Amino acid sequence: MFTKILIANRGEIACRVAATARRLGVRTVAVYSDADASAKHVAACDEAVHIGGSAPRDSYLQWERIIDAARATGAQAIHPGYGFLSENDAFANACASAGIAFIGPPASAILAMGLKAESKQLMEKAGVPLVPGYHEADQDPAMLQHEANRIGYPVLIKASAGGGGKGMRAVDKAEDFADALASCQREARNSFGSDAVLIEKYVQRPRHIEIQVFGDTHGNCVYLFERDCSVQRRHQKVLEEAPAPGMTPEFRQQMGAAAVAAAKAVNYVGAGTVEFIVEQLDGSDTAGPPQGGTAPSGGSAPRAAGSVGVPNFYFMEMNTRLQVEHPVTEAITGLDLVEWQLRVASGEPLPLKQEELRIHGHAIEARICAETPDNNFLPATGTLEVYRKPSCTAFERGVVRVDDGVREGDTISPFYDSMVAKLIVHGATRQEALSRLDAALAETRIVGLSTNVQFLRHVVNSPSFAQANLDTALIPREAAVLFHQDKVGVALAVASAVAQTLVAERAQEVADPFSRRDGWRPHGLTVRGFDFEYLGETLQAQLTYLHDGALQLAVGGTSGVLRFEALPTQGGARMDLQFQGQRQTVQTWQQGETVHIFCALGATQIIEIDALAHAGVAAADGGRLTAPMPGKVLSFAVKAGDVITKGQALAVMEAMKMEHTIAAPADGTVAELLYAPGDQVSEGAELLRITTA
Ligand code: ADP
Ligand code: ADP
Ligand code: MG
Repeated sequence: MFTKILIANRGEIACRVAATARRLGVRTVAVYSDADASAKHVAACDEAVHIGGSAPRDSYLQWERIIDAARATGAQAIHPGYGFLSENDAFANACASAGIAFIGPPASAILAMGLKAESKQLMEKAGVPLVPGYHEADQDPAMLQHEANRIGYPVLIKASAGGGGKGMRAVDKAEDFADALASCQREARNSFGSDAVLIEKYVQRPRHIEIQVFGDTHGNCVYLFERDCSVQRRHQKVLEEAPAPGMTPEFRQQMGAAAVAAAKAVNYVGAGTVEFIVEQLDGSDTAGPPQGGTAPSGGSAPRAAGSVGVPNFYFMEMNTRLQVEHPVTEAITGLDLVEWQLRVASGEPLPLKQEELRIHGHAIEARICAETPDNNFLPATGTLEVYRKPSCTAFERGVVRVDDGVREGDTISPFYDSMVAKLIVHGATRQEALSRLDAALAETRIVGLSTNVQFLRHVVNSPSFAQANLDTALIPREAAVLFHQDKVGVALAVASAVAQTLVAERAQEVADPFSRRDGWRPHGLTVRGFDFEYLGETLQAQLTYLHDGALQLAVGGTSGVLRFEALPTQGGARMDLQFQGQRQTVQTWQQGETVHIFCALGATQIIEIDALAHAGVAAADGGRLTAPMPGKVLSFAVKAGDVITKGQALAVMEAMKMEHTIAAPADGTVAELLYAPGDQVSEGAELLRITTA
């Protein structure tokens, strides 16, 4: 085993690798950019080396500097994590030349699986089932159109060098093919430096099921079962679970054998994932296993797709690295995959044989991202003013796991991806894992930037997810219960905001008895008014102090007695609150005029309007269109003089590894474009000026 390794990554994966190394007594070296000087992963390692500026190309992609850092600190191996240099064959080669072990597969395997088209040709030879499609070198547009027509619509055009859900276009009919091809090639050129594409049949309502494989340098290769990653947005994973609901032992054995065949075809070593797209596997709780099954084949040869009794499954790609969702596999196998990576890279054989591997219970991972799901998942940046994780004491230790690379007070910057943390839960059954996940999400409290935490709760509680009716269209299908949800409700939100104001005032009073400003008078009734803005609507509330000391709260035409009791808390206010027949434990934090409210029902925000603070401020912001976040302008869809209609796409920006379309807020005419494609812009920068009709 190594005595010291360098971790060439940041965030949660760097912290994750450091934790295993520490447990094994292996010393760790972190690398960091300017933006990460005081990051959690730097503190998590024994030593740290600064490698450059905040942008990835100035630091985490500077592989000469990283190899120099390994040499200077005496690290014997480099763990690349995922993203960044993890699937860069030149880097793997450079490590080898420098006499440093690369904790990953041989460069030749990375190269062979790096391009989707080439890897498919290889898989075809190895007998791994492929999606019907075209993956040859000839890229003549007329020929590609011809191939798409032959495959039959809908088809999916993919950038061969693509990844991270980018560079894909679904095409419904022949007439749309040429435009979609041009746009896919443009994105591929910009993002991956190559415009080579392949075409696949677009599988309707498929499931994404992938197999974790592991090889060693002694010729062994096993599969550690499957993960279902069907719940996706923008072709990117949101929730992942293992085992896949509805999976049968026979189907698992066939997919596992196909994955091992894929890995063996490229002499794979280390952790890898073979991703498959699966047709009509019925995983819903009400359905039994696929009908008409044949006896298990027993052999290890992959069976061609379409065999009786087993759904069709097709190879999509192999990710030649550890995957973001590896913890669900760890949870069901009881293994530490990073430990396996370190053992294999130091020349040890795989710790277990195929027949020694077992599945225990069910695990689900939720990716907590800085984004606004209700605004087309627009990534968000900001400071984690409050970051409270679920207490693992609520459950058996180890049943809820949080993997993160941030601490309260840290910033989510525009330089890296938007993932803040991962919640991984384990249970004896899927049902148990599901309710633990919901409880853990309810206990996750973030103030300071928008996140998808509430959205994840809505997904977990949606009929499709709850019944394991999984496929990649789950999010659009369940849109009505996922977006623009208000689980807390205006009455409880107002009651919470009023109560937390009173709690704060009482605390103030204890400190300074003359500061009493709650309007209470010993004789007679006193009424106090509050102005709020909730979900874009303004409203008034009246609080009446009754003779007996009770409080009557009137809001939106109804009224009731408000009871609350302050509870101990670390920051903000925590109250046991009763209003209109509901009793809830409510936690609030106030940021300026915004009160952030968290309770078991969900989380919301209400603005307590301070009238004085707004005197003389004009609201209108018409005629300007600003960048919602810092990033790069990719293109404008309009030019000066164009007449535009509300909702029309005007520009495309790129930030935090994603593209965002900026839409017209109203009908009007474009007066002026203020940037050119390729320009870097800061948040709030005016992109174009429009004259509204
Ligand atoms: P896939 O490539 O199938 O989408 P994943 O969902 O595991 O696989 O990862 C999504 C992409 O984002 C991958 O390219 C991964 O390397 C990258 N990625 C995820 N998290 C990080 C991170 N914290 N830092 C850098 N890259 C990341
Ligand atoms: P990436 O490298 O970006 O991860 P993949 O080829 O793995 O690209 O595809 C990402 C996602 O796109 C899949 O998980 C699946 O949801 C969807 N997808 C890919 N290929 C197909 C297809 N042929 N039909 C339908 N959906 C597909
Ligand atoms: Mg993929």
